[in-house]
Amino acid sequence: MNENPIPFNWPYMTGKEIGYIAEAHAEGQLAGDGPFTRRCHAWLEDRSGCVKALLTHSCTAALEMSALLLDIEPGDEVIMPSYTFVSTANAFALRGAQPVFVDVREDTLNLDERLVESAITARTRAIVPVHYAGVACEMDTIMTTARRHQLKVVEDAAQGVMASYKGRALGSIGDMGAYSFHETKNVISGEGGSLLVNDPGLASRAEIIREKGTDRSRFFRGEVDKYTWQELGSSFLPGELIAAFLWAQFEEADRITRKRLVSWQNYHNLLAPLEAGGVLRRPVVPKDCRHNAHMYYLLLAPEIDRQIVLDEFKKNNIGAVFHYVPLHSSPAGQKFGRAHGDLNVTDSVAQRLIRLPLWVGLTAGQQERVVAVLKNALNLKGSIAH
Ligand SMILES: *Cc1c(COP(=O)(O)O)cnc(C)c1O
Repeated sequence: MNENPIPFNWPYMTGKEIGYIAEAHAEGQLAGDGPFTRRCHAWLEDRSGCVKALLTHSCTAALEMSALLLDIEPGDEVIMPSYTFVSTANAFALRGAQPVFVDVREDTLNLDERLVESAITARTRAIVPVHYAGVACEMDTIMTTARRHQLKVVEDAAQGVMASYKGRALGSIGDMGAYSFHETKNVISGEGGSLLVNDPGLASRAEIIREKGTDRSRFFRGEVDKYTWQELGSSFLPGELIAAFLWAQFEEADRITRKRLVSWQNYHNLLAPLEAGGVLRRPVVPKDCRHNAHMYYLLLAPEIDRQIVLDEFKKNNIGAVFHYVPLHSSPAGQKFGRAHGDLNVTDSVAQRLIRLPLWVGLTAGQQERVVAVLKNALNLKGSIAH
């Protein structure tokens, strides 16, 4: 009871962030699209293979940009999972579209690609797969379905930085992808995000939408002699101080991912006996997916009372938490969206899922304590020994 708290998340800092911020400060470059932003763009384009990367002030902003880029209008429908963060739906609902919620797969908790086709109507415009926990959706099937119906695909890859599907970076497979650099993600800048544009036909409009609907980016490159209002847009770009911070993180992104993977695998090993004992299920990573250890979650067996387990973690100062309230059962989800068919898997996993503490610097000893508390809560101490 008197042990040190183990927080759910602890933002990792590489040590170079302040130095880079000081550099931007010294150069008097504070607005966006300066040298650090350009470095970040080049890194993202190189690492993901996207046509154009654009830093935004959040993944939410990148998703909102994607809705503007696709000219989403009132009456349009956009297919997505219900088991996701609000921004996935909100970005499209803001343009008047109706989110259509499709159930998720039992194994990955990602949009069930086998159900997508049956959710398509004459009003469907786009599909938004969400790569939960940095594990890829079944993108080949989703892309094939989308192309057959001439739909656009926007990957919500908020959790997917440094993860891949069949060797391709998440966010680089659909027409567009969106990353998050929020403090709770793997590579961070406090608030932050990026739009990845993969369809070359969308690249120049993406710049315009991000710069208040103007061709300011072209003006600064000397391609036009004045900049003017071209179309609907907003201010979606972060300032240089954020980009400077983010650059320090990008430099360490491989190391951050490796360290997280070690902790992830350690939980996975420690929890194997509990899975064998039938009290929980561990995450599943399909063989085509290389994940980034964004999250370690477990699914309790249906007969276990999650609240008792969560209370036990809380009592022991351990930040283990549940996750999404499915959007189809949220007030705004009911107002703006609709469920396609029953969402039984979504409803079930939402009630059974627990995320364990996972951050760079978490020790093996701390992880053992987390698992010990879990075992105690499940009252399994004796029964899994044999
Ligand atoms: C974190 C997250 C977002 C939002 O990211 P922000 O950068 O905070 O806007 C959107 N979708 C998913 C799936 C997320 O996990």
